[in-house]
Amino acid sequence: MDLSYQDIKFLPGVGPKKADILAKELGIRSVDDLLHHYPFKYVDRSRFYYLHEISEEMPFIQVKGKILRFEKVGEGHNQRLTAVFTDGKETIELVWFKGVKWVLDKYKAGIEYVIFGKPSLFNGRFNIVHPEVEIASKLPPPEQMGLQPYYNTSEKMKSNFLNSKAIQKIIFPLLQNIKTGIPETLPAFVLQKFALLNLTESLVNVHFPKNADMLNKARQRLKFEELFYIQLNILRQTKWRDLNYRGFVFGQIGHYFNTFFKDHLPFELTNAQKRVLREIRIDVASGRQMNRLLQGDVGSGKTLVALMAMLMAVDNGFQACIMAPTEILATQHFVSIKEFLCDLGLEIALLTGSTRPKARVELHEKLQNGEMNILIGTHALIEDTVQFKNLGLVVIDEQHRFGVEQRSKLWKKNQNPPHILVMTATPIPRTLAMTLYGDLSVSVIDELPPGRKPIQTYHYYNSKRQGLNQFIAKQVQVGRQVYVVYPLINESEKSDLQDLETGFQYLCEVFPNFKISRVHGKLKAAEKEHEMQKFVNGETQIMVATTVIEVGVNVPNASVMVIESAQRFGLSQLHQLRGRVGRGAEQSFCILLTDFKLSSDTRKRMEIMVRTNDGFEISEADLQLRGPGDLEGTQQSGLPFELKIANLARDGKMLEIARNASMEILEDDPTLEKPQNRILAQQLRKMKTNAINWGSIS
Ligand code: ADP
Ligand code: MG
Repeated sequence: MDLSYQDIKFLPGVGPKKADILAKELGIRSVDDLLHHYPFKYVDRSRFYYLHEISEEMPFIQVKGKILRFEKVGEGHNQRLTAVFTDGKETIELVWFKGVKWVLDKYKAGIEYVIFGKPSLFNGRFNIVHPEVEIASKLPPPEQMGLQPYYNTSEKMKSNFLNSKAIQKIIFPLLQNIKTGIPETLPAFVLQKFALLNLTESLVNVHFPKNADMLNKARQRLKFEELFYIQLNILRQTKWRDLNYRGFVFGQIGHYFNTFFKDHLPFELTNAQKRVLREIRIDVASGRQMNRLLQGDVGSGKTLVALMAMLMAVDNGFQACIMAPTEILATQHFVSIKEFLCDLGLEIALLTGSTRPKARVELHEKLQNGEMNILIGTHALIEDTVQFKNLGLVVIDEQHRFGVEQRSKLWKKNQNPPHILVMTATPIPRTLAMTLYGDLSVSVIDELPPGRKPIQTYHYYNSKRQGLNQFIAKQVQVGRQVYVVYPLINESEKSDLQDLETGFQYLCEVFPNFKISRVHGKLKAAEKEHEMQKFVNGETQIMVATTVIEVGVNVPNASVMVIESAQRFGLSQLHQLRGRVGRGAEQSFCILLTDFKLSSDTRKRMEIMVRTNDGFEISEADLQLRGPGDLEGTQQSGLPFELKIANLARDGKMLEIARNASMEILEDDPTLEKPQNRILAQQLRKMKTNAINWGSIS
């Protein structure tokens, strides 16, 4: 019996209308989906509390007792109903703001009830607003109630009678009925090796835990499974690639690399750059296809490493290309690479969305007859019309979301897949890297070129703006340039965030003698380019911008980065923005502006930014902070798949175990053909179909 084919609309209590809502709101279509819609928290109903035990830290309590009397307070809209409730010793007030008539009809004084709710402090006394009230004699004893599950629901679901309780009422009988029939999804030897609960028991206990211990075991098993299959999937693809493709061999270091290294390189390579180049060299000479992730903070000199790797390709008769996420960045790469390689006599070209058709035709021809050595561009490079004679190396720059699928498009650009080097300036925490880029080997540049002064970062409240203006004026007067970044382009009624247009006008008034560039995502590409260029050339002293400048622009003379409404940006983004300065020899500064009133999370973010320039530390902190506040389970943004129960910030150890387990299995049986592994191959196939279905629906 395959539960993934059983439509939920036939379940008792569901029907076509609710099934439709569940599908739209939560993507739940099959019985299998429903069983894997886990509670996001549990409430302990395994005992009754006494009123004298209540404290503010208690999320929920249940108390047994009687209502003494009701009282209506206020009139019309402001009317509320209160009830005095006693556990026999003390009293507490119950409050209803809605459904007054309904409550009065339903609940009576003098009957023994169990009330359940969240105590809150009001005028120095505890009360419970909108408690759940149930007749005591109709409830099972508390030992049998245990931990109560709470499910995520949306407003739309609630207004269609699909609140958490309703979901509970659908899942409970379902589990009762199919208890014996949920097919296991992990092989027996894996369950045994890691002492995991079987699937049926795990699902029963994750929805209706017998006790805290069983809940814990159930969650462990489900987390393991989730992480395990992601790893198995990634690692199997890697194995498959190694078995089926031979990598191009760049056997020699030749003329171009050597000449560049001896005669053109304007500075000494850092030790980190040398080390990474050695790692790349070993890969490309190995006969296996390189898939390497190069992590290095902004300004650590990744582009140069990429360039030298491309020269290795050219020296061995191959073409190379580098792909950047934006046109501006691609153009900048083109200009600086051309400058680096000035009279080496190589053919280098730029290809972006705005390359003219005529130039394109010529370019395509040169790519196909092999005249073109190095191509630099945007996503335009992936298009099928772009065909190389002999592409040997692809570099992907500054791309955080470039998964296995997209990369595989590049593999098809040659008979054998080219070597691939992915570069990112946003250091990815280990757990995330293993999940997103689990098939890549990792190189790290952990050293900046000498002579760089660490950027000084300050957090100012908006009230200090006057002082900041004086500081900006001083910097510009000594010849520096300044970025001011805004979270919004235009004023918005809904928020009190600073916006670019207002800020631009303000700065024009404050600094009538300075010239100011204005760049944002709504400008046409050419306009943006023009404004940007003015700043790059030094014609303008200040650039106001949105986060379009986040990636890549290089203006070494810019020494100040002001970030308005900094609370609006995540840590990685702040760090990326900060990386736009500190690229020259001068001392650089980053100023984070916020209101005085801040959430504790934001305050932490600002503190981390002020304390450290270390991208790795920042990315770890980012992952921890973004981790869900409640009992886990919330989705992590930016992943190509949804994690339902595991959490990359907290389950690092489990991930490691799951990864090692996958490796061990694939080592022994790379194609998963052995009988004990059949279930694994089956699950991977199912994951794939699900992903495709999902893709075609959304
Ligand atoms: P990334 O792409 O890692 O942010 P870049 O490759 O753009 O960094 O390098 C930043 C700047 O540092 C560039 O101007 C580059 O020419 C320069 N640079 C790179 N490596 C070195 C080095 N070893 N010594 C001095 N300057 C370097
Ligand atoms: Mg770069």
